[in-house]
Amino acid sequence: MSRIIGIDLGTTNSSVAVVEGGKAVIIPNERGERSTPSVVAFTNSGERLTGSLARRQAAVNSARTISSVKRHMGTEWKISIDGKAYNAQEISAMILRDLRKSAEEYLGEPVTDAVITVPAYFNDIQRQATKDAGRIAGLNVQRIINEPTSAALAYGLDHGAAQKIMVYDLGGGTFDVSIIEIGDGVVEVLATGGDNHLGGDDFDQAVTDYLVREFQRTERIDVRKDVAAMQRIREAAEQAKKELSVTESTTVQLPYLSQNQNGPVHLDCTITRAKFNELTRELVNRTAIPVQNALNDAGIAASELGKVLLVGGSTRIPAVQQKVKELTGKEPSHSINPDECVAQGAAIQGEVLSGGSLQLAGSDGGILLLDVTPLSLSIETVGGVASRLVERNSTLPVHYSQIFTTAAPFQSSVDIHVLQGERPMARDNKTIGRFKLKGIKKAMAGVPQIEVTFDIDTNGILKVSAKDLDTGKEQSITITANNKMSDEEIEQAIRDAEQYAAEDQIRRDAMTVCSEAQMLLTNVEQALAAEKKQLEKAERKQIKEECSRLKKLITKKTPEKMTYGELDEIKAAMKDLEYASACLNMSEYRP
Ligand code: AMP
Repeated sequence: MSRIIGIDLGTTNSSVAVVEGGKAVIIPNERGERSTPSVVAFTNSGERLTGSLARRQAAVNSARTISSVKRHMGTEWKISIDGKAYNAQEISAMILRDLRKSAEEYLGEPVTDAVITVPAYFNDIQRQATKDAGRIAGLNVQRIINEPTSAALAYGLDHGAAQKIMVYDLGGGTFDVSIIEIGDGVVEVLATGGDNHLGGDDFDQAVTDYLVREFQRTERIDVRKDVAAMQRIREAAEQAKKELSVTESTTVQLPYLSQNQNGPVHLDCTITRAKFNELTRELVNRTAIPVQNALNDAGIAASELGKVLLVGGSTRIPAVQQKVKELTGKEPSHSINPDECVAQGAAIQGEVLSGGSLQLAGSDGGILLLDVTPLSLSIETVGGVASRLVERNSTLPVHYSQIFTTAAPFQSSVDIHVLQGERPMARDNKTIGRFKLKGIKKAMAGVPQIEVTFDIDTNGILKVSAKDLDTGKEQSITITANNKMSDEEIEQAIRDAEQYAAEDQIRRDAMTVCSEAQMLLTNVEQALAAEKKQLEKAERKQIKEECSRLKKLITKKTPEKMTYGELDEIKAAMKDLEYASACLNMSEYRP
């Protein structure tokens, strides 16, 4: 197998690395840069530009320049240039082709295989889209790995001691946080969380808005509709933000930004770091919840962290570093390069996949990388309940089977409705697939045994199958692009799950209590019909009264609207009915 390169396909910048002499080295592009801006442009003369050449001409050719295309991966987004529509995969492939070319020139041999990194929160469609982009660029994508995991891999190669680390990754467009355990040749992701719409671009936007407001206040000119002026302000805002990472104050000067009746008007505005911190405080604070969730999901306290690694260009912002310190009680580590470690980790994974003999420092075996799935997976069962088969943060690859049965007598097919999300009721989760298993042997409800299996491969791509263990009939689907969740939906699903957690719990409890009560009623009524003769009149009357009281309580409202007080009443009525019907033979009833 030829060398497998590692690619960090970033929102703002991309880089490529390869392992040489046991070390992951960054491959410079033809302009000698260690990272390539993820920008593609089509000039008016039909030339296609990538990287810094594309970025440099963005202000004068904004309609034909594409940046941050990663934000569109796996969506329906398209851009039409000279009558041809390009999707995000095709634009990304142009960047990948550039990186591949640099690697070929550096190595002096053809490169056909790569490991590409994605944000941990990328869903299956986005991962598939990234793989497709690689394919379009002529690369066999041997593995898709999560960016924070990749960073941990790069760190683990150099720093031996077994420990749990946090990777806090704030890039241009996304925020990812992962808790990872390194030790004994294993890099295991314990939990991951994040916000797909939080990154450096939002900081740029906050500064841009401020500059626009200041210009309006001092010059009384609103430039928001002036596309070229806005592009200049945005670029200057990003530059100012970067400068404020090292200095306490910076001045933005944009000559000839606009004009009024007296002639050209220039923008000249000083921004202090304190002002910048004030403008972006909310953004920095937004990283706190995912950090806490990831720690909770990993089941550890911040004090148990051995190291906190900062990844992504936006972690250079002093207020961000301060926030991380506040949240974890630890001085973040500066021992890895936040811009390069992701590509380096991917190269290490590539080397491992090609059979190389890399070792984690402190271990005497190879390296095993264990990643996780970002959301829980379930199927819909009786009463619209989402029965969970794979928990969020389960280690990949996942192979899990569970036996289900039929709810109605003589059912010859079952619908398998595959769901993704954290909510207990099916309708509140995202449908990611649906299929029918036909040809089930006809039998009483509850007799057929249907084995449902979820298989998630190491790239995070899911296959679901269902098999009737009696007839051997089997049906399966691989979840494909158009039925997957978007980023927004994933985030919404998690936000909703948090917001509605309390509401969900009571609904779930109500469903359980009502279905147990219904089961008790059916059994008592059947037993009563069977043993009519032997019962005392008074006993039968008592049982019937208790039955009708319980029936009234469970039909008064739908379970979703019940309060805990009402559930307690139902439970008490069940107890009374059980007590009254103790004389009946109800062998099938188990509370
Ligand atoms: P990445 O996606 O990791 O390449 O991160 C890119 C983001 O980091 C962009 O929003 C950059 O503006 C931001 N960035 C890069 N360098 C700095 C810096 N010195 N200070 C603040 N932000 C930075």
